[in-house]
Amino acid sequence: MVQDQEAHAAQMERTFIAIKPDGVQRGLIAEIISRFEHKGFKLVAIKILVPSKEFAQKHYHDLKDRPFFNGLCAFLSSGPVVAMERESKYGRKLIGATDPQKSEPGTIRGDLAVVVGRNIIQGSDGPETAKDEINLWFKPQELVSYKSNAEKWIYEGN
Ligand code: UDP
Ligand code: MG
Repeated sequence: MVQDQEAHAAQMERTFIAIKPDGVQRGLIAEIISRFEHKGFKLVAIKILVPSKEFAQKHYHDLKDRPFFNGLCAFLSSGPVVAMERESKYGRKLIGATDPQKSEPGTIRGDLAVVVGRNIIQGSDGPETAKDEINLWFKPQELVSYKSNAEKWIYEGN
């Protein structure tokens, strides 16, 4: 039983996800949210905002030496972004590879995007970056804590 609980806790990693301006402008907010919702990922925070260029630079600070950094930050701050925090595991699998041409069909990028600079969604790449990104995008009071009634039908051992 303890083992089951530990397995369950390990499953419930927190992930930061954002629908980038291209996803918002293309009318894909509901499509993207529904994929996570249908998979059983629990939504604990959501908001829409236009990030400033400085904010985008903070978000992508680890890419600051890459040639596409300026264009990427300009793009992220060019329009509304839908920012979310979810409790889940395997979020990256649903999102697909960075380059949509290499994303498997069935993934969000594989099904809905074509080029790397317009790949419609951001997802944190591990628990540590998730923590940093959640702290950057959300205040603690914006996160909602609740027990999802669906959890016992989605996960074993609770
Ligand atoms: N990106 C780009 N050109 C590249 C690599 C990345 O424009 O050659 C953009 C792309 O939009 C990607 C973002 O930079 O989503 C962040 O890059 P990262 O390597 O973190 O990919 P992700 O985690 O988004 O899959
Ligand atoms: Mg990344």
